[in-house]
Amino acid sequence: MGGAVSTLVENIALLVTHEPGRAERHGAAIVIEAGRIAWVGDSADAPDADTRIDAGGRCAVPGFVDSHSHLVFAGDRAAEFEARMAGRRYEAGGIRSTVAVTREASDAQLLAGARRRLAEMRVQGTTTVEIKSGYGLSVEQEARILAIARSLTPETTFLGAHVLPAEYAGRRDDYVELVAGPMLDACAPHARWIDVFIDDGAFSVDEARRILLAGIARGLGARVHAGQLGPSAGIRLAVELGAASVDHCTFLADGDIEALAGSGAASGAGSASRGGVPTGPGGGRSGQGGTTAVPGEAPVLSGWGGTVATLLPAVEFSTRSPYPDARRLLDAGVHVALATDCNPGSSYTTSIPFCIALAVREMGMTPAEALRAATLGGAEALRRADVGHLTVGATADVVLLDAPSYVHLAYRPGVPLVHRVLASGAQQ
Ligand SMILES: [Zn+2]
Repeated sequence: MGGAVSTLVENIALLVTHEPGRAERHGAAIVIEAGRIAWVGDSADAPDADTRIDAGGRCAVPGFVDSHSHLVFAGDRAAEFEARMAGRRYEAGGIRSTVAVTREASDAQLLAGARRRLAEMRVQGTTTVEIKSGYGLSVEQEARILAIARSLTPETTFLGAHVLPAEYAGRRDDYVELVAGPMLDACAPHARWIDVFIDDGAFSVDEARRILLAGIARGLGARVHAGQLGPSAGIRLAVELGAASVDHCTFLADGDIEALAGSGAASGAGSASRGGVPTGPGGGRSGQGGTTAVPGEAPVLSGWGGTVATLLPAVEFSTRSPYPDARRLLDAGVHVALATDCNPGSSYTTSIPFCIALAVREMGMTPAEALRAATLGGAEALRRADVGHLTVGATADVVLLDAPSYVHLAYRPGVPLVHRVLASGAQQ
């Protein structure tokens, strides 16, 4: 195929592809060509390839898709965490202290910090990451943060509506108009998404609607923070606006679950265009069922165009709060993602395996459901068809675990089980 170098990964004890009807294969192998999965099958039937990787009886899973992070910031808030563990309650206002130090940091300092955290993510198996702004809260600072984020990932999110900056105290309406106007103008070229933190201490549902609609009109896709600190009409707003994801969902109001479960039907299967969101960098027609890749095409695995509930259990861990009821969401048919929400205040972890362990131990998810949420679920939350699975045509983001099964991700919490990461087929 075009003279590309092919790589055979063989002797995979358990391969998770997420192929409908055959999500897992034992004794499997894959062939990678031009950064894509070109063949999937039994290790005994594997074709020849230019190079070989012996998985040695390990488990192979799709690279993790961390669909919610705030990686670009300066400083840390260890003292705030320490005080919280001594009994103080988490409040959204702590964000302002990170804003103050982030504004003072140089571009080089911010980039170096974000790269360090991105490297932490990578060695723990994350191959796709979303990064939000939100620690600048001025036109220049938000655009600066997004430009840095854009140099690290295509999945960048404008979060000018994170909290009200101190200098706008008493002038909420002015700040909302700034975010929906000049700040959006400066940030839209660097962003794929727009997000609003809806909660007490942050922004109201009406303010969020104004900002999200302005972003959608500029071609950005909508996503929302809601339900972290209490029940919120923000979850229904996210569904109403066709947001790709509503994140936290720790507290759910009456009707939220039904609205989320029905959001896919409302959007139409396969439609990823609501909210102005294109299918994504890997969008293409369905390529399931075949064993050979069509060059340049990625499969559309789920076609889900509704609103994903993205759960962030490291936040509950780090703020000593009750966990979201994942079981209730899954049983109702809601599409669920797991992400780190890596940020210096409420969740300073870069580890998806840690989130998987929490989801299984504390949220009623099976290990298979948690793995799916951290891979395919994250891809759905970013409306990406090319990542989060390992069917033929997918981007070859493959994680080999030092374990015979992904169950070990939850069964052996805190243990560095990631043996090797292939990102677009390249060894890391
Ligand atoms: Zn967040």
